[in-house]
Amino acid sequence: MNSKYQQLKKIKEEILNLTTSPLYKYRLKQGVWPIVGEGDHDARLMFVGEAPGKNEVKVGRPFIGKSGQVLTRLLNEVSIKRESVYITSVVKDRPPGNRKPTPEELAIYSPLMKRQIDIIKPKIIVSLGGFALSWIWSNYGEGESGKISQIHGQVKSLDKSRWQMMLMPLYHPAVALYDRSKINILRQDMTKLVKLLA
Ligand code: URA
Repeated sequence: MNSKYQQLKKIKEEILNLTTSPLYKYRLKQGVWPIVGEGDHDARLMFVGEAPGKNEVKVGRPFIGKSGQVLTRLLNEVSIKRESVYITSVVKDRPPGNRKPTPEELAIYSPLMKRQIDIIKPKIIVSLGGFALSWIWSNYGEGESGKISQIHGQVKSLDKSRWQMMLMPLYHPAVALYDRSKINILRQDMTKLVKLLA
């Protein structure tokens, strides 16, 4: 069996050459990068967003734009080192104008995201926003998940995962940029996450 590093490197190469994706063509036209993900390959916590934004694809790193700065600040506040977790998004290329990924695009990126989860085997997946929540739940959850407004900050077991993976849904950090009351909710939920880890 290849090491985690080699397996993740293979995924990276596949993403770099994802010629089947309509977003690959857009990536080339824009002269930007996909994001694969970054962080500890043995992370207990995996943060999963929707798709990279404009700033992320300029450098090929996840969550480094404005919403990423909110995420990094929240992690700092609860003393979680950003490099100790793994951060990625379901879709690895930026959809034009930040539109929602299409079902066709999702079908292309989903297997890559699942393989990353299988390799890293996090204890807890932290979904950032409604899109990531519904992707995680439809792949690993059982029954109804509930809306993000109802279940953010709650611990859910992912019954269809092969190991005992748990989910903690959080609001997407971008919401704190246009609704300042959400930052406190995100803070409280992060604190719950730290308790769960302990
Ligand atoms: N949203 C994501 O899902 N990923 C990023 O890197 C930025 C915003």
